[in-house]
Amino acid sequence: MSQSDDGVAGVDNTFRKKFDREEYLERAREREEKEAEGKLKSKSKGPPVQRKPLKHRDFQVDLESRLGKTQVVTPVAPLSQQAGYYCSVCECVVKDSANYLDHINGKKHQRALGMSMRVERASLEQVKQRFELLKKRKDTGGLTVQDFDERILKQQQEEEERKRQRREKKKEKKKEKEVAEEPEIDPDVAAMMGFGGFGSSKK
Ligand SMILES: [Zn+2]
Repeated sequence: MSQSDDGVAGVDNTFRKKFDREEYLERAREREEKEAEGKLKSKSKGPPVQRKPLKHRDFQVDLESRLGKTQVVTPVAPLSQQAGYYCSVCECVVKDSANYLDHINGKKHQRALGMSMRVERASLEQVKQRFELLKKRKDTGGLTVQDFDERILKQQQEEEERKRQRREKKKEKKKEKEVAEEPEIDPDVAAMMGFGGFGSSKK
């Protein structure tokens, strides 16, 4: 009977807790009373928050845009400029990409986004549709035409957005430069030193 023959074969290991119905009924009653009281008290705080079920991420996670870049890190810099991955939702910094992925897939982050960790139960119809879609994909070597169009459109939008951000950054840098340079070069001093300005003020 027992797996080993070291003398414990005869021990009764079939013990089970005996369920005392009366006792547990009593306990349940007590608990319900307590809960009812608690509810009355906490009603002033408003209804409990109903969190939405988990949703697909509809954007690409950016893990690489700062790869290979050099950055001065000081302890007094704002969190978003510290070393590592910054989560603007939770206002925290995670040290590496693996932990960052864990974080944005994690309970705390999802809760901050208003989602519980529950996944919505798919209906039969949804499952059928999914199978249908996957079948079509197989026929066309992985992608439907619609998929393809969607992907291109999305990539174009993302590229557009990146360009826009780059332009804005450039503009800001230019402004900073102008502000920093202009008051420092006194035209008279510049003339005395033999370089008549940089083609800015003396025209
Ligand atoms: Zn977060």
